[in-house]
Order: sequence, then C-alpha cells, then structure tokens
Amino acid sequence: MRNGSTNQSGKILATSDEFVPTAFHQPGELPALPLTESEPVHWQEAMKRAIRSSQQLRKAVGLPPDSSKGVGPDGKLAGEQNFPTFAPLEFVARIEPRNADDPLLKQVLPVTAEEVEHVGFASDPVGDLNALASPGVLHKYEGRALILTTSACGIHCRYCFRREFPYQQTGSRKDDWLPSIKYLQQRTDIEEVILSGGDPLTTTDEKLDQLITALEGIPHLKRLRLHSRMPIVIPQRITGELVKRLSSSRLSAWMVIHANHPQELSESVLSGTAQLIDAGVPVLNQAVLLRGVNDQTEILTELCRRLVNHRIQPYYLHQLDRVRGAAHFEVPVETGLKMIENLRAVLPGYAIPQYVHEEAGEKSKTPILDTNREINS
Ligand SMILES: *Cc1c(COP(=O)(O)O)cnc(C)c1O
Ligand code: SF4
Repeated sequence: MRNGSTNQSGKILATSDEFVPTAFHQPGELPALPLTESEPVHWQEAMKRAIRSSQQLRKAVGLPPDSSKGVGPDGKLAGEQNFPTFAPLEFVARIEPRNADDPLLKQVLPVTAEEVEHVGFASDPVGDLNALASPGVLHKYEGRALILTTSACGIHCRYCFRREFPYQQTGSRKDDWLPSIKYLQQRTDIEEVILSGGDPLTTTDEKLDQLITALEGIPHLKRLRLHSRMPIVIPQRITGELVKRLSSSRLSAWMVIHANHPQELSESVLSGTAQLIDAGVPVLNQAVLLRGVNDQTEILTELCRRLVNHRIQPYYLHQLDRVRGAAHFEVPVETGLKMIENLRAVLPGYAIPQYVHEEAGEKSKTPILDTNREINS
C-alpha cells in the first residue's frame, strides 16, 4: 500500500498496488488449458497475470460457471468481496482440470460455505492485535519477533487466519520498516527475526536487501527466518540474487515454506528449494490440516515423504485457526492425532511434523498431544 493508500475495504489482506494488472496483462487470460510451468515469466509478471475472480478460476480449470444464488451481479461470491480471489497461474497449473474436488483448487476457490456464521470463528483468532509490540512487529514468544513485512501475498488461501487481518491498523507498510527496526534495536533479548506478513517474498530483492542489511546492523540478532508461500505458488521467486543474499548474510538464514498437499510440490518448486538448501539455507515446511485437502493419512504421508526426499523438513502441522469463513475446513483434533500416529508408523522421526495449535496469550505454539497414549516404564 504505497503512498498510504488503502485497499477497498481498508482491512483485508490484499495484494499490493504494484501488482495491479495493466492493460497489457489481462489477469488470468493468458494460457489456454493445459496450463504449464514450462516457460516461467518474471515473478512480478506472474503476480500481475494471476487469476482474480472465482469465475475466472473456474473457467481456467474447465469448470462451469457457478450458478448458485450466492453469486452477485458482478459475478462474485460474497466471500470474495472481503477477501478477493488471487491465484497465480503457476499454482493453477497444478490443479487437475474439471475436478471440482481438487485439493489445490479447494484452497483458493471461494465457496458459499464461507458465508455461514459459526460460533467460535472470529476475525482475529490468534490474538495478533494484542501481540503488536510496535507498529509492524508481533512479539509473542521469547527471543523471536515477527515483522509484518507487507500485507501482500502471492496467493489467497481461503482458510487463512489473516484473511480478516486489519493490516492498516498494524502499521505494516512496505516502505517503512523503520519502527520495526527501532523496536528490534531496543530489545536486546531478541535473537531471531521472522519476516512474515503477508508474504515477505512479494517484496522485491532490492527492498529485501535493504531490510536485511538493516537487520544485520543489529548486533544481538543471530538468525533471520522467512515465512513464505511464494516458493510454492510462484517458484521462480527463488532468484539467484535472493539465494545469494540469504546465504551470504551474517545472520543464519532459515526458510519456512507452506505446502499442504504433495501435488503442490512441482519440479520447479523443488528445484527452487534445492537451490536454497544447496546454498546452506535450511528449508522447513508448515502445513495446515484442512478438510478435503490433506485430512487423509495417505496424503499427509506422501507430503512428508516427498518433503524429506527433497531435504525439506516437515516442521509444523497446524490445527486450523478458527477464523470467520473457514469453518468448513476444520478437521477434528482426534483425526489429526490419529493421522500423526499413522505417520509415525511409516516414516522416520524427522519426517513427522509437530501437530500444534496457536492459543492467544500462550508462550509458544501449543503442541497437540495424544494424552491417552501410555508410556511404559
Ligand atoms: C508462530 C509465531 C512465531 C514462531 O514460532 P516458532 O515456534 O518459533 O516457529 C513467532 N512469532 C509469532 C508472533 C508467531 O505467531
Ligand atoms: S496462508 Fe499465508 S500465503 Fe496464504 S493468504 Fe494467508 S498469509 Fe497469505
């Protein structure tokens, strides 16, 4: 949101002004089916040509137009007025054409179920607004602080806990990280800074370089972590320049990516993460447990297996945050626990993610454990 302008509703997660399509880039109209990733365009170009409405998305994957009565005169569902559709073609290319139940499609296609109110599903489920330590900084856990680097994302995940996040109230601004830097300078107890958002990798290499340089100048910082879904959704975002910048930093750099289903791990994705790992940047994955996407043991096993086969460590499996509009994605905790147990039976220990939930006010993510499991002594 440059020049202090706000997005339409003033509170939603939305891609930045920079990626508004121009007359030359009609979003989502480029390739006909089948979509491929074979000719990557520059990642910023990929942002511009991303799909921006549910009807466009349905068309791109060969589904008939939505004829439900939730569709407004502008062809949009109510849920996408608050939280617009945004899906890069690189991600859409991995969706199976004409399959309405495709696990990748479900993550990005708005549905009328989003509009059903559910008790306990709120707009700030993890208490982020109370954890704002300074404009643009969340400081919940000891030794680690998180910078809301930008409000833009490379994809809009329908289950996202930040789908209603009021970025304008948090002071997260692309061009003004100074208040965050000042906070980090004062707090000598912080040794790790996490760049999150939004998605920090929707920021250009040039601006990231400036931010990282400023962070490197804070003596007590030791580690730099990036939380990004860009390596999954627009794999060409892993540029040579980015890899070099991270691997040559004084700070130990870690990358945490976000894939929920093995079908997201395309060749291009894995070649990007391999570049990071080869350069000495460890890559971890976090996933969210999602109904109809990855709530089957075979799928989760395949995800974790593919990750470790490519040297990526499964880090967290998150129980869904109860954000308004995402209730239809919730999986019972008992199912999650059972799946973790099943994973343990077939995969090495390092391939098992920690099953966690975020509770407002807690000192760390809260592990979800099987309390019925006996320990023999
Ligand atoms: C999740 C989170 C972190 C990171 O927690 P780890 O357990 O270290 O991965 C840090 N800060 C905030 C605000 C978070 O939500
Ligand atoms: S889950 Fe991550 S990438 Fe997806 S919309 Fe939320 S913040 Fe953005």
